[in-house]
Amino acid sequence: MTLRFGRELLMIPGPTTVPDVVLQAMHRPAVDIYEGELVAYTDSCLADLKTLFGTAGNTYIYAANGHGAWEAALSNTMSRGDRLLVLESGRFALGWGETASSLGIAVEVLERSFRKAVDPGAVEARLRADTDHAIKAILVVQIDTASGVRNDLAAIRAAIDAAGHPALFMVDTVASLGIEPFEMDALGIDVAMCGAQKGLMTPPGLGVVAAGPRAIEAHKSADLVTRYWDWTFRDGAEHYMKYCGTPPEHLLFGFRRALDLLLREEGLANAHRRHALLAEATRRAVAVWTTSNRLDFNIENPAERGNSVTVVRTEEPGLSARIVTTCHDTYGVRISNGIGDLQGHGFRIGHMGHVNAGNLLGALASVETTLHAVGIAFEGSGVAEAARYLGSETRV
Ligand SMILES: *Cc1c(COP(=O)(O)O)cnc(C)c1O
Repeated sequence: MTLRFGRELLMIPGPTTVPDVVLQAMHRPAVDIYEGELVAYTDSCLADLKTLFGTAGNTYIYAANGHGAWEAALSNTMSRGDRLLVLESGRFALGWGETASSLGIAVEVLERSFRKAVDPGAVEARLRADTDHAIKAILVVQIDTASGVRNDLAAIRAAIDAAGHPALFMVDTVASLGIEPFEMDALGIDVAMCGAQKGLMTPPGLGVVAAGPRAIEAHKSADLVTRYWDWTFRDGAEHYMKYCGTPPEHLLFGFRRALDLLLREEGLANAHRRHALLAEATRRAVAVWTTSNRLDFNIENPAERGNSVTVVRTEEPGLSARIVTTCHDTYGVRISNGIGDLQGHGFRIGHMGHVNAGNLLGALASVETTLHAVGIAFEGSGVAEAARYLGSETRV
């Protein structure tokens, strides 16, 4: 028996549900790329990105995904043979480091358990040992979508400062921009990058990058610069230069609408609060499910759990795949399998982007139903705890 025929809920950690208003904004013919409304869209999107990143620096929009934005960040600031330090906390900073290796950059990984945030003390110790300042950049992810961790960017910045180290500080915000507070300039971050398909609610295909003054200075002597990613070329006066060719027009129509939804209709602070409440509701539900002793939070320290995705681990072979498959095939809710260290041993519930209490509670109820269906016994109801929590936080 299946109950999946109805509107499917996409609760994976990206891409996320695209709002109907964003899809509708894209449903139109192509327009002139040299003058008119598209030029104004570019200007307003680049300006809104400064607000989103919290920077007075430069912003860039690429027809690319997050991996492309990773390459843009590196190739614009680094030279062949430079060394950089990757702060491990899951899968994605490592992936960024692999992109750097492929460019000819020497990559060192500061290793860390899949269940913990980056340790600022270890960062400080490593940088203090780098007395000749061979490390040119430090890469870290704000929220890692594989492990579910949130890193403390202010503490990492403080560690870099305590070591008196001049390396560029580069942050991946793919799973945190629009979801949790991020203040690039206030945090002393030199380069930040994001993809538009998670918290920014746009169909996959746009990568965005912000560069502060120290990154722009490094750009002047970086020898990995290539034409497509090149900030200098994109700073050129003509509109086509902003995209190094034909702009991804329809993605821009959608992105423009999504930014209005986020910044002007809901408001960024409200979006942060919504994500915090939905994430905590999810954690309340998962806490009940862990009383089965067959499931556990991946991230050990509750304070280190990010608000975009909740990652649940299980040691039993085959169990997480059964949960993910049943949740979709029988109940019509898409959650994700574990990746990286949790491949085959975990599942991930995405709660970012265009998701409301109704969506989330439906998803949590479907996961709980799945747990009953596969025979996992626990005390009480996670859904009841989530509902009680959300009700108490939104009392009228
Ligand atoms: C999704 C994700 C990426 C990769 O983005 P793509 O668009 O798939 O290339 C990078 N970093 C984080 C933290 C992500 O969640």
